[in-house]
Amino acid sequence: MLERLGVRTVSDLLFLFPRDYQDLTDFRPMTQLEEDKWLSVCGRVEEVDFRVSPQTGRSVVGVLVMGEPGYVRAVWFNQLFMRDKFCRGQRVVLTGRPKLRGMVWEMHHPKVIWLEPDEQPPPGRILPIYPLTEGLQQHQLRRLVERALDDYAGYLEEAFPSDFLQSHRLWPIQRAIRQVHFPDDQASLQQARRRFIYQELFQLQLALALRRQGQTQRQAPVLQATALIDARIRRLFPFELTEGQNQVIRQIAEDLAKPTPMNRLLQGDVGSGKTAAAVYAMLLAVAHGYQAVLMAPTEILARQHAQTLEGLLSASRVRRALLVGGLPETERTELLRRIADGQIDIIVGTQAVIQKDVQFAKLGLVVIDEQHRFGVRQRAWLKRAGLDPHYLVMTATPIPRTLTMVFFGDLDVSVLRDSPPGRQKVHTYLADESRRAAWWAFFRKKLDEGRQGYVVAPLVEGSEAEETANAVALYEALSEGELRGYRLGLLHGRLPTDEKDRVMDRFRRRELQVLVCTSVIEVGVDVPNATLMTIEGGERFGLAQLHQLRGRISRGGTPGFCCVFANPTTEESRQRLEAFQNTTDGFALAELDFKLRGPGEMFGVRQHGLPPFLIADLLRDAEILEEARQDAQTLVASDPGLARPEHARLRQLTLRRYGHALELGDVG
Ligand code: ADP
Ligand code: MG
Repeated sequence: MLERLGVRTVSDLLFLFPRDYQDLTDFRPMTQLEEDKWLSVCGRVEEVDFRVSPQTGRSVVGVLVMGEPGYVRAVWFNQLFMRDKFCRGQRVVLTGRPKLRGMVWEMHHPKVIWLEPDEQPPPGRILPIYPLTEGLQQHQLRRLVERALDDYAGYLEEAFPSDFLQSHRLWPIQRAIRQVHFPDDQASLQQARRRFIYQELFQLQLALALRRQGQTQRQAPVLQATALIDARIRRLFPFELTEGQNQVIRQIAEDLAKPTPMNRLLQGDVGSGKTAAAVYAMLLAVAHGYQAVLMAPTEILARQHAQTLEGLLSASRVRRALLVGGLPETERTELLRRIADGQIDIIVGTQAVIQKDVQFAKLGLVVIDEQHRFGVRQRAWLKRAGLDPHYLVMTATPIPRTLTMVFFGDLDVSVLRDSPPGRQKVHTYLADESRRAAWWAFFRKKLDEGRQGYVVAPLVEGSEAEETANAVALYEALSEGELRGYRLGLLHGRLPTDEKDRVMDRFRRRELQVLVCTSVIEVGVDVPNATLMTIEGGERFGLAQLHQLRGRISRGGTPGFCCVFANPTTEESRQRLEAFQNTTDGFALAELDFKLRGPGEMFGVRQHGLPPFLIADLLRDAEILEEARQDAQTLVASDPGLARPEHARLRQLTLRRYGHALELGDVG
C-alpha cells in the first residue's frame, strides 16, 4: 500500500510530506465560537441534508453537528460526495472558521476527523494529513511516520553547511523533519515547511546552474557583428527594426561574440517580430562562414520561414535549403551531401527531420522556433564533436516568469516587449448562440471588403480523428450555409503534407477567402490580410491557445475581429474567456492562465522531464523560488562544480535527483 504512495524506504516515508494539516490547538465548546478564527469543535452528527440547484447544478451539503450544548452546521459546496461520509449519531471533530449565519454557526468546508465510538478527540496539536491510498488510514500512516521519526530521523544528514543555514534562516534538517510532520505550532510549521520547499527549489536551481556552467565550459565560434556586417544585414529588412528588436539583437550579438555557446531564450508575444532577430543572428553566422539552422515545430511553419527567407535573401548570395519530411530519396541524399560539404548556408526544417542524420560542414547557430511545449530534456540540442553551435530558442507565447525560471532556468532570457508599429488592435467578442446570425453577417461583409478569415473547429484533446471530423463538418455546414458562395478551404493535421501546403498557399495568394481548420494554425502562421477569426467551442481551449489563435489576425495594419462562441461550464472557464475578451497583453494573460490553472495543468513538470516536486508548489512558492535561484547562482559562481568538501553532500543529493534529467553526468 505504501508503495502506491511512492514510499519504498524509511527515507521515502520521512519525506512523505503532509498534503495538509488539521490544527486542533484551539479546541472550543460550541458555545464559545468566534467569527473567522481557526477553531476545532467536537460533537455528534444530528442530521445530513443536501440540495442541488436545477439551474446551475451546484450542490450544497449541510451536516448539523450537536455539541453539549450548542451546535454547528458544516457546509460543503459542489462536493456532493460529502453527503455519504456522515451518518447520524457519529462523533466528529470539525476544524474550520466559523461564520454566524442568522442564528446558526456555520463552518464552510471544515476539515473532519471521524471518531470511533469510544475514541477520545485527539490532543490539542497540529495533525498532519497525508495523501492516502485505498486500505490505508490516516491514523495508521501517522503512527508509521511517528515511528520512523523516532527511530531514524537521527540518521538524516544535513545537506547545507551550517553557516549557510544560519545566513539563510533555514532550520537544520533534524529539527525541520520532525516539525514538518508534527509541528508544535503554526510558526514552527511554516519554518519547517520553508526549509524543505527552499531545499527542493534550491537543488533544482543548483542543477540548472551546473548545467549552464557545463555549457560555458564548451567552445563555440566567435561571431563578431562588425559595423560592416551589421549594416549589410540591416539593409535586407524591408522595415525599420523596432527598439525592442534592436535591444534583443544587441543581446544576441554580445553572446555570439563570445567563444562560449549562446544559450538564449527569446520570449515575445505573438506577432512581436521574433523572426527578424533570428534572421539577424543567422546571417551573422553566415557572414563568418558558418552554417545556421532554423528548426520549426511543423512543416507549415518551416515552409513559411523558408518563404520569408526567400523574400529577404533572393538578391543575396546566401544559399538556402528547406529540409522537410517526404522529400524524394535522391533529392534528400543530394541535399544532405551539399549540407555536409558546406554548400548550403541556411537550412530550414522541422525539428524531427534535422535531428535525424544531418551532418553539417560548419554549424555555427541553431534557432529553435515556437518552442514552448518542450522542456529541459526535450530541447533538441544537436550534439557534435568540435566546436558547439550557439543556440537561440524562441517561444510561441509568453511564459509566466516562475515557469521560465524552472523550465528554461539554464538559459539567458531576452524579452521582446513592443510590437511592430501600426499594429491594429483586435476586437474580441465572447458570444453565445443568439449572436451567430449577426456575426456571420459581419463576417461576410468583411470578406466582401476583401479581407480573409479563419474558422477554428472545437478542440478535441487527444483525438485528432474527432477534431478532424469537427472541422470537416464545420466546413461542409458553412459551405452550404452561412458562407455559401465564398471560397472556403479546409486545413487539418490529417491532410497529406502537400495538400496542406497547397491549401496554405492558396490562402496566402487570396484564392481562398476562408480557412476552416483545426488548431493546426495555432502556431506562427502569418497572413497579414486575414483579419477575421471565428473560434468554435471556445471553452475547450486554454488561454494561451486562444491568444495564439487571435495572434493570427493581428499581423497587418487593419483591425482584427475575433469572435469566440463558447459555452463555459465552470467558473474557471468563464474567467478564462472573460480575461481573453478583456486583455490582449500576452504576458498578462500568461500570468493569469498560470493562476487559474496552476502549473501542473499548464506545464506538467513530468512532461518536461523533471522529477515531480515533493513539497514545492510553483504558484504558491514563487518568492522562495526567486530567492533559491539567486542563491544557487551565487553558490555555483563561488564554487564551480561544487568541489569544496562542505558542498559534497549538496552536490551528491542534487546529482542524484536531477543528474539524469538534466544530463549532468559530466559535471565536475
Ligand atoms: P512572431 O514573433 O510571432 O514570430 P513574426 O516574426 O512572424 O512574429 O512577425 C510578425 C509580422 O511582423 C511579420 O509579418 C513581419 O514581417 C512583421 N514585422 C516584424 N518586425 C517588423 C518591424 N520592425 N516593422 C514592421 N513589420 C515587422
Ligand atoms: Mg514566429
